[in-house]
Amino acid sequence: MNHTSTRLSNNDLLDILSLSENATAIYTGEDVIIENANEAMLQFWGKNKSIIGMPFEDAVPVLKGQPFIAMLQNVWRTGNTVEGIDAPAELEIDGELRTSYFDFLYRAILNPDGTTRCILHTATDVTDRFLSQKRIAEMNEQVATINKELSDANRQLTISNHDLAESEETLIQLNNNLTESETQLQFAIDAASLGTWDLDPKTNKFSGNDRLKSWFGLRPEQEIPLEKATDIILETDRLRVIAAIQQAMSYSSGGGYDIEYTIVNPENPVPRIVKAKGKALFNIDNQVIRFSGTLQDITEERRASEALTEMNQRLEIALDAGNLGSYELDLETGKMVTTDQYKLNLGWPLNKPLSLADVTEIIKPEYRKYVDKQWKNAIDHNMVYNAEYEIVLPDGTERWISAAAKPRYNKNGRATKMVGVTYDITESKTNERRKDDFITIASHELKTPITTLKSSLQLLNRMKDDPSPKMLPKLIEQANRSMEKISTLVEDLLNVSRMNEGQLHLSKSKFTIADMLNQCCNHVRVAGKHDLIFEGDTGLQVFADEHRIDQVVINLVNNAVKYAPNSHEIYLIVEKEGNMAKISVKDNGPGITPDKLPHLFTRYYRADYSGIQYSGLGLGLYISSEIVRKHGGKIGAVSELGKGSTFWFTLPL
Ligand code: ADP
Repeated sequence: MNHTSTRLSNNDLLDILSLSENATAIYTGEDVIIENANEAMLQFWGKNKSIIGMPFEDAVPVLKGQPFIAMLQNVWRTGNTVEGIDAPAELEIDGELRTSYFDFLYRAILNPDGTTRCILHTATDVTDRFLSQKRIAEMNEQVATINKELSDANRQLTISNHDLAESEETLIQLNNNLTESETQLQFAIDAASLGTWDLDPKTNKFSGNDRLKSWFGLRPEQEIPLEKATDIILETDRLRVIAAIQQAMSYSSGGGYDIEYTIVNPENPVPRIVKAKGKALFNIDNQVIRFSGTLQDITEERRASEALTEMNQRLEIALDAGNLGSYELDLETGKMVTTDQYKLNLGWPLNKPLSLADVTEIIKPEYRKYVDKQWKNAIDHNMVYNAEYEIVLPDGTERWISAAAKPRYNKNGRATKMVGVTYDITESKTNERRKDDFITIASHELKTPITTLKSSLQLLNRMKDDPSPKMLPKLIEQANRSMEKISTLVEDLLNVSRMNEGQLHLSKSKFTIADMLNQCCNHVRVAGKHDLIFEGDTGLQVFADEHRIDQVVINLVNNAVKYAPNSHEIYLIVEKEGNMAKISVKDNGPGITPDKLPHLFTRYYRADYSGIQYSGLGLGLYISSEIVRKHGGKIGAVSELGKGSTFWFTLPL
C-alpha cells in the first residue's frame, strides 16, 4: 500500500490534539484568550466548545478570585513555566460547585525573540488520589492518637497496679500500727492507773476495765450493772457528777466533761480523788451512739501538790520571818521575779519591776567586780554563789546585804536561771564593827590604868630601900586608883559575858529605894562638882537585888557626870507608877539627838560627840538594861538637845 504524505494543517493538528485524553488547552495574550481546549479540559470546566475564543475569565467565571488566571498572566509576561501538584480548584459541574484537585503545568511556548507565543496548559484530575492520600494521612493520625492513648492507658495501668500493691502494703502496715497502738494504749491505760468505761445506749450495756471493776470491789469476770455505775461516787459529789454526765449526753453541750470527784472504794477504805473525763459520740440525728470515759486516781498527785503548796507556804513564812528576799532571774533576758521582801531589802518600790541591771546599779561600785567574780564562778562551776556587799538605796542610805544563789541549767548545760536569796545584814555588820571597835577601845581603856599602875610600881620598887614619906602614900593611892579602874572594867566585861550566857543571877531582898539612893554615889558627893538632889517618894520599897540596882544607879549617875559635866544638879527621882516603882536620873546636860536615843541601850553602842572624846566601853547602859529586864522592869531615856537628859527605869513593887 502506498501512502501519500500530506502535511497536516494547523486545524488538523488541533483536532488531533483534542482527541488526547490528557486535558489540554492553549491560551494567548495578557487577557488569556482560550485558543483551544480539548474535550477533557472542557469537561473539567463543565463547558463546551462555544467558549473557544473567549477570555478565560469570562469563559469560566467561577475561577474569579482563584489564583489560576493571575498565574497564567504571570506566565504570559515572564515566559516562565509554572507547575502545580494537588492544587485545589473550585469548579461548577452540572450546576454544582465542587472542589477538585489537579496536577497541572502552564508551559510558555516562546517566539524566537523570547516573547511568549502561547501557553500550553495540561492538567490531570488527581482528586481521587489526593483524597485517598488525605484519608490515609488522617487515618494514620488517628492510629497514632489511639496508640498514644493506649500507651498512656498502659502506663496508668502499670502505675495503678503498683499503687494497688503499695496500698495493700499500707493497709497491712496500718493494721499492724493499729494493733500496736491498741497494745500501747492498753499499756498507757495500765501505766496511768486509768479506769476505763464504755456505755452502749442501744443495749444499755455498761462495761469497764479490770481496774475500774476493782474500784467497785468486783473481780475481772464480773460485770458492773449500769444502775450501780454511780455507786462508788461519794454521796456529796454524786449529783454534780450525774449532772455533768447528763449534760455531755446532749448534743448541744459538745459531748464531753472533765471533772474531779471523790470515790469511796470498797477495796480501800480511804477515799480516793479521781479525775474523770467522758465523751459522747453522736450519729447524724444527734443521738448518742456511744459514751465512754476514763477515771484517773490523782489522790497521790493531789496530796503531793498540797504538800508542796504547804511547803512553799512554810518556806515563804520562814523567808518572811527572816527578812529573806528571794528571786528568780532569767539569765537570758535579765528579767527577775522577786518577792516583796527582796525589793524591800534593796529599798526598791514594790510596784516597780526590777532587773539585774538595776540591782548592779544599787551595789556600791567598789563591790561590783567582786560580786561579778563570785557570780561567774558559781555559774561556771555549778556552785552556790555567795557574796556580802554594801548597797546604796535610792534615798542614799547604805546597807549591808548577804546574798546566796544557785544557777539552774538547761539540758544543753547552759545556765539559764539563777535562783537566790538576799538578807539585810546591816545590823549584824554594825554589831560586828562595834565589837571590833569595842576590842580596840577596851584594850585602850585597860592600857591607861595598867600603864599608870606599872609606873607607880616601878617607882615604889626603886624607893623600896629608901622610901620617900611624901611620895609613898601618893604612889600607893595612884596604884590603888588604877587597880580600881582595872577591876571596874574587868567587872563590866565579866558582866557582859555572863549576860551573854544568861548567867546573871539575882539575890533579891526588900529595901527602901530612897535609902539605897542616899548611900550610893558617894564618890560624886565627895568630888563636890555635882549636887545629887533627891525628889519623890521616900518610903517606896521594892523586892530586888539591891547590889545590882545600886550598880544601875551608879551607871546612870556616872554617865550624867561624864556627859553633862556642866550640869551642877543631878536629880534622883522616885515615883510610884501603878504597881511599879520608877527611878529617874535627870541632868541638865547637852541632851541626846532623837536618832541616837533608840540605840543607847545596845551593846557596844557609843554615841559620837563631834570634837569631844569620852572614854568608855559602850557597855554601861547595856548592862543596866539587862539588869532591869531581868527584874521584869523597863528602862528608857527622854532627852531633847540642849535641855538635858532623863534616864529612867522601873521595878515591880
Ligand atoms: P559609855 O558611857 O561607855 O560610852 P554607856 O552604855 O554608858 O557607854 O552609854 C552609851 C552612850 O550613851 C554614851 O556613849 C553616850 O553617848 C550616851 N549617854 C549616856 N548617858 C548620857 C547622858 N546623861 N547625856 C548624854 N549622853 C549620854
